[in-house]
This record gives sequence, structure tokens and C-alpha cells, in this order.
Amino acid sequence: MKSTALRVVVLSGMATVVAGCVTDQNAAQVKLEQQAVLAVNWVQQSGEYQALAYQAFNTARRAFDTAKAQAGRKKAVIVDLDETMIDNSAYAAWRIEHGVPYTKPTWARWMEAKQAVAIDGAVSFARYVNSHGGRMFYVSNRDDTSYVATVENLQKLGFPGVSRETVLLRTTQSNKQARFDLVKSKGYDVVVYIGDNLNDFGTEYYGKNNRERRLQVAAQQKQFGSKFIMLPNPAYGDWISGMAVDYYKQTPARQLEINRENLRVWKD
Ligand SMILES: [Mg+2]
Repeated sequence: MKSTALRVVVLSGMATVVAGCVTDQNAAQVKLEQQAVLAVNWVQQSGEYQALAYQAFNTARRAFDTAKAQAGRKKAVIVDLDETMIDNSAYAAWRIEHGVPYTKPTWARWMEAKQAVAIDGAVSFARYVNSHGGRMFYVSNRDDTSYVATVENLQKLGFPGVSRETVLLRTTQSNKQARFDLVKSKGYDVVVYIGDNLNDFGTEYYGKNNRERRLQVAAQQKQFGSKFIMLPNPAYGDWISGMAVDYYKQTPARQLEINRENLRVWKD
């Protein structure tokens, strides 16, 4: 009797500790999501974000016009989709509202809803390329199981030349280099790459930490604005996981600490 009673007390105590832990982690997760509020406000509300988007596609158009394709090859432009051509910030806002992290099932549900909107300047740029001797390739790390929904979303927004040949989603690997090479192997000279993540520009950035990524950016500095065109994405990206090894394997509480530890602070 005694031992059973004790076990009940111990077990219920453990349950309280576990429940307490879960509550703490939930609170940390909510706080983590809250850190994205201003980033999402900026993307959705600021004229500054809109101006940068136009600036990116105006620059891309000049770069495309200026570029000469290698002899016997046709000019191609490779673009990323999410936060490059289409805006999924409503999904980010939904996560903030619910205090929940990115998960594959909720992201899949968002994609199936086909509610992404076009980023300013993206559709007219894509149409310009396809009507001026080039070809658009949409290389995205959306899972290939979302192909139909993604294509329908893109077509609804007016993106041109959307097909199995030009929309290359993720099947086995998230490193995009193999898909870039596939486009080149079909006789194209890829003259411009557009993305919101350095990984959209080549394998040099894949799996690297922020220090390495910044060194690579410095090494390629002359190509930004000509071969590589960057859209701003303050809400998410590999720049976040680039702050610490296995960032996304950490608890929300630890992720909050890492974010704070990565601030360069005025030592007054
Ligand atoms: Mg993207």
C-alpha cells in the first residue's frame, strides 16, 4: 500500500515536471514565433520591401538583357519560388497567431490552399524573359508531392512557361546544384539566378555556417546585381540555422538563447 501510494506521488510529481517542461517549451515556442512579427510586418506592409522587390527585378532584367549566351546555347534564368517569386508571408503570420513552428503537414496544407501571392515585379519579369529569347526555370525546394498545387498557384498568378520541364521541385536532395546542372545539360546558359537564400545560387553555400557564407559572398561580391539577384527575406532562411550547429534540433528555449547570443552588442 505504502509503496503504491509513494509511486503515485512520485509519478504524479514527474507528470507535473514533464507538464511544466512542455508548458515552458510552448511558451518559448510562442516567444520564438513572436520574434518574427516585425519581419512579417515589414514584408507585408512596407513600401521599402516593395521597392526592393522592384529593384531586384529591374536589375535582373538589365542583367538578362546585357548577358550574352555562350555560342549555341539559349539564355536561361533560374529562379527560386518561395519568397523570391511568390509570397507566403500569410503562412508565417498564421504561425505567429498560433504560436507554432514550421511543420511539414501545416506547410503542405498551406501549399494545397494555393494562396501564395506574386511578389511585385516577378510576373512581368518572367514574361519578359520568356518573350525575349530566354527561358524561365523555377527551381524550388517545395516537396515534389506539391507539384500540382504549386503549378496551379503559379498559373493562377500569371507566371509563364510553367511545366514539368521548367518547374523543378525537390525529390531527393535539397542541394539545388544537381537541378541547376540538369538545366545546363539541356543546352542552356544560365545567365541569371534569383533567390532569397544564398543556397539559390549554388552548392558553395549549401550546409555552411554564416561565417563561411559571408566569406563566399565577399568572394563573389562582383556578381551580385549581375549574375546573382537577391530578394530580402527577414523572416526565415538558412541564415537562421547558420547561427549554430544543428540549430533546428535545439529546443525553442535554446534557439531563443542562440538568437540572443548572436547579437553584436554595444559595449557602453
Ligand atoms: Mg526561397
